[in-house]
Amino acid sequence: MFKKILVANRGEIALRIQRACRELGVKAVMVYSEADRDAKYVKLAEEAVCIGPAASALSYLNMPAIISAAEVTDAEAIHPGYGFLSENADFAERVERSGFQFIGPTPESIRIMGDKVSAKQAMIKAGVPCVPGSEGELPDDPVQIKRIAKAVGYPVIIKAAGGGGGRGMRVVHTEAALINAVAMTKNEAGAAFGNPAVYLEKFLQNPRHIEIQILADKYKNAVYLGERDCSMQRRHQKIIEEAPALGIPRKLIERVGDRCVAACKKIGYRGAGTFEFLYEDGDFYFIEMNTRVQVEHPVTEMTTGIDIVKTQIMVAAGEKLPFTQRQIQVRGHAIECRLNAEDAYKCIPSPGRITMWHPPGGPGVRVDSHVYTNYFVPPNYDSMIGKIIVHGDTREQALARMRTALGETVIEGINTNVPLHRELMVDAKFMEGGTNIHYLEGWLADHVR
Ligand code: ADP
Repeated sequence: MFKKILVANRGEIALRIQRACRELGVKAVMVYSEADRDAKYVKLAEEAVCIGPAASALSYLNMPAIISAAEVTDAEAIHPGYGFLSENADFAERVERSGFQFIGPTPESIRIMGDKVSAKQAMIKAGVPCVPGSEGELPDDPVQIKRIAKAVGYPVIIKAAGGGGGRGMRVVHTEAALINAVAMTKNEAGAAFGNPAVYLEKFLQNPRHIEIQILADKYKNAVYLGERDCSMQRRHQKIIEEAPALGIPRKLIERVGDRCVAACKKIGYRGAGTFEFLYEDGDFYFIEMNTRVQVEHPVTEMTTGIDIVKTQIMVAAGEKLPFTQRQIQVRGHAIECRLNAEDAYKCIPSPGRITMWHPPGGPGVRVDSHVYTNYFVPPNYDSMIGKIIVHGDTREQALARMRTALGETVIEGINTNVPLHRELMVDAKFMEGGTNIHYLEGWLADHVR
């Protein structure tokens, strides 16, 4: 096991990784920008290094500053968390070339999965079901583009190979709009992601977002830890996640899970990862793979009892996965609500000082957050200030626990989306379960005056 690792991230995930290190008896070096000096994990740290000013480009995205921090503190490995440099293959490569272990997959795996076209091709090869569409990047010839779209069938979606964060996508309903939409998406993709390549797939009308969590070691052992339903989204951003997904036959999940595991073995994947799918009319369609730990990992930890972050660190240190597929059991039901510093309904960011922070507690309640009373939420980063996660024997019990937890939660001084979560937890359709990816947008349109 490592003696010391450097945590190259901020916010609740930095605290989450620090906690995993403590349990493993590994020293954690925290890094922080000038805006994050007062974060809980910095105050709790045995060692912390300032890596630059508030702007992410100068701190959390500053590769030389992060690698120097690892050098001066004698860390052996770097945990990238999520966001920032976590899916940057060049960073992973520089970390390893500087003599540190990157806590994640190899740079090659990140590169293949980071390009959606090559990821899809790798998945088709491994027998993972994908959304029907163009075989690879779209050609330049308009006649050929039209032929491909016609064969797939309208509506179609044009997606950037290098896209992420819900950007670089355009839905097309008719052939008349096709060529112009391809050109616009290409232009945007070139400007935003430095890669103009686009591809085309069938636009699924009312799918759910279902994803499979996997863990793999360096010896080609891999397992899946069941699925998560992340269909409650706003502008392609997840707000509520749960595990397991309601109403999907177990046999089907097992079949898809097995395909994901086979794909991991085939590409020599190591560490934690998530295969994201759209699920419609009883079929799964792969959309992308995330090669890192995800915000919503706790719902899987609560239902399987497996510590995903600790396992990431253990496999990076060269240990074998400590469990086999047959030992993994999903028990009960877990729900996560992301707490954002924003206006509850209009979703406008609301940074500033938290004058009162009273998190909930009780049986089956977990709160992952780096904030506290008097903490200042900086305006420079993502608005998420924490997560409430609950576990119950049944979905009904989990819902009841979440309602109780949200009822106890007091956050003053800034706006948060707690009122929105409270309403959604008593919404008839959400309580029934199985809502699709458009449900929350529709709900907001109906409820926001
Ligand atoms: P990103 O990397 O930007 O998150 P994804 O490929 O994961 O992009 O897609 C994000 C979201 O866009 C999905 O969760 C879904 O809501 C929507 N989406 C993507 N592809 C399709 C598709 N073929 N049909 C319908 N919706 C889609």
